[in-house]
Amino acid sequence: MTKKIIIANWKANPDSAGRAVKIAREISAGISGARNVEVVIAPSTIHISNLKFLTSNFQLGAQDSFWEDTGPYTGEISWHQLKHCGVQYVILGHSERRALCETNEKINKKIKAVLESGMKAVLCVGELEKQRDVAFPRIIHEELKEGLKGVKKILLKNLIVVYEPVWAISSNKNSKPDSPKNVFEMSVLIRRELLKMFGKKIAFSIRIIYGGSVDEKNAADFVRLGRVDGLLVGAASLNSKKFIEIIKKVSRV
Ligand code: PEP
Repeated sequence: MTKKIIIANWKANPDSAGRAVKIAREISAGISGARNVEVVIAPSTIHISNLKFLTSNFQLGAQDSFWEDTGPYTGEISWHQLKHCGVQYVILGHSERRALCETNEKINKKIKAVLESGMKAVLCVGELEKQRDVAFPRIIHEELKEGLKGVKKILLKNLIVVYEPVWAISSNKNSKPDSPKNVFEMSVLIRRELLKMFGKKIAFSIRIIYGGSVDEKNAADFVRLGRVDGLLVGAASLNSKKFIEIIKKVSRV
């Protein structure tokens, strides 16, 4: 049985290194017995080095990466620098970055650079509004097609696709979690799209996970009934008790 993966997206939180270390230590201590779940914490970039030496029970992630290695790119953090800091997973194309002018073209360059480096790329896709009358929103088709254009097939086993409908993200107005049933249907449609793009063998090697208002009450249902390979967790991952509970519940599914 392949392990489920649970990725914490801390966004621009918490406000100090001390607090980041405290939460990471609590999580690490609380999940030491949860063997069949892979846990990744993606802190904001400024806290990555502080968490680097705490990773006995989780792996390190990042929330973005520039596509060049080093050089005159003021303000950017490159895949090369992240890899040096022990990062193994990079979230790309999150809707909060797309809202800040991140295009599919840029995301595609980042995915290629991250996968070529040997790290794993975590590509977020999802529609902005709930679309009751559309089975597979066009935007997801475009995010997959353009984001993965020209990526070497051999590297795709290190890709994770997150179905994360923007309307379900907890920080958005009137947000609410998707239903496990819809998550299941969307993950099938995403898999079908990957199948058309890359063929059966590759499509089934790519993990598909869900993100959007996951908490300790609904996490197990997304995995059990939504049948996804894991979860991306935002707000609830900053609360060590809740995050530990999510991991424990998923590990029992
Ligand atoms: C996210 O934005 O990636 C996310 C999963 O957020 P939340 O769990 O807070 O909805």
